[in-house]
Amino acid sequence: MQALKERILRDGKCFEGGILKVDNFINHQMDPILMKSMAVEFVRRFSGSDINKVLTIEASGIAPAIMVGYLLELPVVFAKKKKPSTMENMLSTQVFSFTKNNTYDVCVCRDYLHPGDKVLFIDDFLANGNAAKGIIDLVRQSGAELSGMGFLIEKAFQHGGDELRAMGIRVESLAIIDGLEDCRIKIRD
Ligand code: 5GP
Repeated sequence: MQALKERILRDGKCFEGGILKVDNFINHQMDPILMKSMAVEFVRRFSGSDINKVLTIEASGIAPAIMVGYLLELPVVFAKKKKPSTMENMLSTQVFSFTKNNTYDVCVCRDYLHPGDKVLFIDDFLANGNAAKGIIDLVRQSGAELSGMGFLIEKAFQHGGDELRAMGIRVESLAIIDGLEDCRIKIRD
């Protein structure tokens, strides 16, 4: 998606270890106009898919997911990164975080993800695919079906996308980064 690619080249910053910072328009300050355009693009790309629910993971996935849910007029569920003491009937799984170098629990209540649901997962980044695999596990445990996964930015050099596509999952990424060597952002045309 051209507008996102241009914005990444203009405002994105590279950090050691293959991290791309987009705090200026996605991860801290948010650009709602761009966010809306990205959601419109997801809706276009997944227009042929059967979806009744948008799923994301807190915190950075919530903004794009709610825009997609708004456009599709579908409920949006976010998986939580800490098990709330008041929440019963939980599904949970563990995810390794590449950016934070730790493992955390991800959970969702069975009331909001259950058999019959056809789920579109939306998140900000796809890197190694660990968060996505955690979500796949939660969807599997719930008996729901995964209709597709959409990411604002895929870092192709970390190969999570290859793994998900090899699993037969429909993956759509609005900008694909092929490399961040020497702090130069290489974006796929
Ligand atoms: P994965 O589980 O695919 O390795 O990483 C995905 C998660 O890690 C995303 O939800 C995102 O929050 C975070 N992440 C991975 N790589 C980056 C990055 O380069 N920049 C930022 N801002 N977050 C990232």
